Amino acid sequence: MIKELHEKLIKKQISAKELAKQYLDNIKNKNQILNAFITITEQQALEQAEKIDELIVREEKLPVLAGIPASIKDVIMTEGIQTTAGSQILKNYVAPYDASLVKKLKEQGMVLLGKNNCDEFAMGGSGENSSFGPTKNPYDLTRVSGGSSSGSAVAVAAGLSVYSIGTDTGGSVRQPAAFCGVVGFKPTYGAISRYGLIAMASSLDQAGIIAKCIEDVEIVFDCVKGKDRLDSTSLEFPISNESFAFIPQNCGMSAEPPQFPNKSQNSNFKFKDFKVGVPREYFIKGLNKEVEQAVKDVIEKAQELGAKIIDVSLPNSEYALAVYYIIMPSEASANLARYDGIRYGNSPREKYFGDEVKRRIMLGAYALSAGYYDAYYKKAQQVRTLIRQDFEKVLDQVDILITPTTPSPAFKLGEKIADPLQMYLEDIFTVPVNVAGLPAISMPCGKTKNNLPIGVQLIGKWLEDSKLLTVAKKIEDVVKYINN
Ligand code: GLN
Repeated sequence: MIKELHEKLIKKQISAKELAKQYLDNIKNKNQILNAFITITEQQALEQAEKIDELIVREEKLPVLAGIPASIKDVIMTEGIQTTAGSQILKNYVAPYDASLVKKLKEQGMVLLGKNNCDEFAMGGSGENSSFGPTKNPYDLTRVSGGSSSGSAVAVAAGLSVYSIGTDTGGSVRQPAAFCGVVGFKPTYGAISRYGLIAMASSLDQAGIIAKCIEDVEIVFDCVKGKDRLDSTSLEFPISNESFAFIPQNCGMSAEPPQFPNKSQNSNFKFKDFKVGVPREYFIKGLNKEVEQAVKDVIEKAQELGAKIIDVSLPNSEYALAVYYIIMPSEASANLARYDGIRYGNSPREKYFGDEVKRRIMLGAYALSAGYYDAYYKKAQQVRTLIRQDFEKVLDQVDILITPTTPSPAFKLGEKIADPLQMYLEDIFTVPVNVAGLPAISMPCGKTKNNLPIGVQLIGKWLEDSKLLTVAKKIEDVVKYINN
């Protein structure tokens, strides 16, 4: 989609301003119902679009994302724009600087339409924890959109932005993508700088991309990935495997504009002898039957095309949820200590923090307290190593893993909000990936009888993000084939 829009822009079939207006109109028409945006930056968007139009008139080389309307989850800092993290404690907080990834996108000529709604401090799996009200699922307005990047997934699904940047600490990019029928990609931990992300759990947080197709995700990823001196955990981003390699990208506006991934370079990918691992722990009792069938159909089709399907086991995955819900609140309780109403945030805290945030601060403070540190936090870190080792072992034998993204399709608004444990179970297939720091993607693989989207998750090896995206494109073809 980005590629087509880019071509239309350079051929002057549409101006960047007209394109921005189309999307802003969509937002005006639908946002009141869907609640996908907390802040709409109409004025800035139109000004940015005008600048791009000037480049087009002068026939200057146009960077790949120039003029493409996008949105950003409201836990990511955007200079001069209200950035709330979905919380009343940061209501009216205006970010004094851009997150590194935002800076990179601006260098590309992004047209920023606004900031997407999300669960408060990215804590949630349904979008219902936002203090700005829940985001509704465009496929069924009585259902949740998934979370915590709820507004990002809905904005893309409903045509309110072309792509959005979300964050994924335990599934928050992949799970809403699955519920809303779009693609959600969480790269290897460290692939995209965390500088300027409002921290939830620093050893798990990772920015990710939500878009309509894998190619769009790939284009945006190429522009935001790589080492950032402002985030010491960010990584130089190697191209993992020559046969899957894309053209090396250089995304600075000042330098040569990046090129689109070259199709012919990827076309040498064949399913033949490609090894797909199917972890048996992800096909458990309680998994929704329609979700199970849709994922199995993808696996079967991949096999018909020559992939070797291998039954694998990740025995410690069953502890991933418990490990996550100790490590994440522990880190969150430390990160959120800064909202003391003096340095940051509206005061008093007890009034402006929502229930889920308070719950996690208390859980985290408890797990880290002197008497319990060894029993909880330390133990959880030890099991985290075992989970990671399971993946290491299995990913030595196979190229990727295929699993469902979520145990069920989108559930009803209000269905789980009163029962945090039920809600946490929604993350069962996504959190192991963050605990291990792996790249993973959720992509649509079908619909239920009620027309609700179903997501399939592909998990790749560390740093082999581009290979994962290449395989995902092939699976995308498989899914199209099944659905036709
Ligand atoms: N649903 C998970 C949680 O509530 C994941 C959140 C996230 O990835 N930001 O913690």
